[in-house]
Amino acid sequence: MKIIGVDIGGTSIKGIVINEMGDCLEETRMSTEAKRGKEHIALHVEKVIGQLLSRYPDAAGIGIGTAGRVDVKTGQIVYATNNLPGWQGFELGEWCEGKFGLPVVVDNDANTALAGEAWLGAGVGLSDLTMLTLGTGVGGANMIGGKLYRGAHWNGGEWGHVVLVPNGYPCNCGMQGCIEQYVSGTALVRLAREAAGRDYTTGHEVFADFKRGQPEVLAVVQRFISDLALVIHNIHIGLNPQAIIIGGGVAESKSIWFDLLKGKLAELSPVIEVRAATLGNRAGAIGAARLVLESLKES
Ligand SMILES: [Zn+2]
Repeated sequence: MKIIGVDIGGTSIKGIVINEMGDCLEETRMSTEAKRGKEHIALHVEKVIGQLLSRYPDAAGIGIGTAGRVDVKTGQIVYATNNLPGWQGFELGEWCEGKFGLPVVVDNDANTALAGEAWLGAGVGLSDLTMLTLGTGVGGANMIGGKLYRGAHWNGGEWGHVVLVPNGYPCNCGMQGCIEQYVSGTALVRLAREAAGRDYTTGHEVFADFKRGQPEVLAVVQRFISDLALVIHNIHIGLNPQAIIIGGGVAESKSIWFDLLKGKLAELSPVIEVRAATLGNRAGAIGAARLVLESLKES
């Protein structure tokens, strides 16, 4: 059986065709051009899926991971920020079934990333996992007993909006001091700009200066990793997963900071298992495909 997996982010839409064995047969991507609004984003999703279906017309289903909170039962986006304008309220699952006449599963992109890592990546063989994706924001997902745990209102695993610093930096969710404002790639760039007075645009640039030993940046990254260790410790205490997987854009620089994180964690608890994600930016599409595969097998 062949399945299509799609990952809709604020910057790009990625699509794959994958089989039951986990072999990726086809891959494509397109810019989201999110600023142009819902209809335009949907048009690009349609083009990505259409392109994959033209190569593999026998695909049996479509899995979609998207930014925002998703009612997995109906495929509706119940909450989305302005990263995807107009997305909130969109009946994405119904729309996609109507366009292509195939079974569709829609889920939050951090959930699909975790499903992907659990199937073919850093979580293989484990059933109790938490994933943090550190990028523009901080995505989170929990898997308990081999099943994604989405919560009663579809915001289970939203670790990015757990408050780390009372009365801290304002967050786009309306709260202050959310984890996202301290351990995302965006936060790292902001903190390094403030400390070093340099016009950083990406986390990679910050980590490069860290590697060179730039003193202000050394302190910022040390603090960033300490905060991340504390977040991981809190998850370890609250859920006690077998492993906590770190993905997202920040994880691409893991060779620079991963040992530092492990050192900080060892000071907090000797038993915390932290792993870097291994599927990169394909995890979300792979996991989305996995979810529709599971749903087809169940029915
Ligand atoms: Zn927040």
